[in-house]
Amino acid sequence: MAEKDDENVVVIGLGRFGGQVADSLLRLGHEVLGIDEDPELVQQWSDRLTHVVQADATDEDALLQVGIKEFDRAVVGIGNDIEASVLTVVTLSELGVGDIWAKAVSPKHGRILRSVGAHHVIHPEITMGERVAHLIASRMLDFFEFDDGFAIARTRAPRDSAGRTLADLALLSRHGITVVGVKTHGTDFVYAAPETVVPEHAELVVAGRTELVQRFAATT
Ligand code: ADP
Repeated sequence: MAEKDDENVVVIGLGRFGGQVADSLLRLGHEVLGIDEDPELVQQWSDRLTHVVQADATDEDALLQVGIKEFDRAVVGIGNDIEASVLTVVTLSELGVGDIWAKAVSPKHGRILRSVGAHHVIHPEITMGERVAHLIASRMLDFFEFDDGFAIARTRAPRDSAGRTLADLALLSRHGITVVGVKTHGTDFVYAAPETVVPEHAELVVAGRTELVQRFAATT
């Protein structure tokens, strides 16, 4: 790992969140340096990660020693120890790491992380909690909301839509949502086009303003 490379990622804090990020990055073909202060955890990860070291990530010298300067991307998975999480982000930022992702355990924690240099703040519990609530409260099969009130969802097709084209259904003018993909049981999603015919028992991927996507899903 000599030169700074986008493919190399350092994951600090190999708890449930950081460990999952590290594992998935590995499967996606990235080199991962894992850092945790817990020797037992480091031992557990030693044969799975490319490199794993025991260090206190709030200690600038320790980070320099493990070669942090070779990384342009870091994920901080420390959550419960807010002081350690904030100090780690400050240290990474001062060391010039260009892309810092950090986990927050509360909105206030997230604001602090942003103000000390995190480029991306993740709220796993809040995001997942909201998502599950949307799935339970609506007929959506999957749902993802972007920060600015725009959402993409997987829904059932409206009851009266089987055999009709998307042009005929005119969901944009009637419901304010755009259909991105169409799928029926056992087949892959196909890209939506005006002439796409909606099959029986179809599922749609739709995009639009969150409240319009929710309203549309409720009608299906
Ligand atoms: P999760 O809920 O995802 O398991 P935790 O906050 O409980 O998150 O765990 C974070 C991990 O970060 C733990 O394994 C802990 O040992 C590690 N950790 C906490 N502080 C530091 C630190 N200063 N330096 C390195 N690792 C740390």
